[in-house]
Amino acid sequence: MDFFDFHHHKKDRAFGIYNLDCHDPVPDFPYSAGIHPKDIVSGGMEMQLIQLKELASHKLCVAIGECGLDAMAEADKDVQEEIFLKQILLSNETRKPLIIHCVRKYYEVIAFRKKAEQAMVIHGFNKKQGIADDLIRNNFYLSFGKAVLYNLSLQDTLRTVPMNRIFLETDDADVDIGELYQKTAAIKGIPVEKLSEQIRENLAQIQNG
Ligand SMILES: [Zn+2]
Repeated sequence: MDFFDFHHHKKDRAFGIYNLDCHDPVPDFPYSAGIHPKDIVSGGMEMQLIQLKELASHKLCVAIGECGLDAMAEADKDVQEEIFLKQILLSNETRKPLIIHCVRKYYEVIAFRKKAEQAMVIHGFNKKQGIADDLIRNNFYLSFGKAVLYNLSLQDTLRTVPMNRIFLETDDADVDIGELYQKTAAIKGIPVEKLSEQIRENLAQIQNG
């Protein structure tokens, strides 16, 4: 069975969304392109945005991201917010959903929600129940990764997240996407086939804007 991997870094995996490194050639399978807060080049942002627009114009570019806000990144807050907003506007323009990277800036990211016309998916979600609740209330989707296998409080949170807001991803971890589906299906108390079908529906949902 093929399990959709919402955010991954593996060039040999076609069923999922490959996180394109900006130095990579355009692949012949679905990918996302964005400017990660840690990759912001001060003084070079205009150029980065031009490159991103080019990458985002391809049909196989199915999402904008990772982009977002990161309290640990070097670029200062205002610059991060400016670049994030530009990527939200690009998402509106291209009608492609956003894959969000967020470190300790959840409420700031939520404040940007109203600027976006397309879906926003928080990738690698592993935070507390209260943050999950606030994100869900604000129409975010949550993509879970390897932490679901061992983080008990995250498993409790996942149990409460509506089925129509969930994605699963391997990111850069050495973990089997099938194992993540099995674990999540067990946590949700549903057959893995049902989970897989639901995630494909969620995908269709975010691709229709
Ligand atoms: Zn990643």
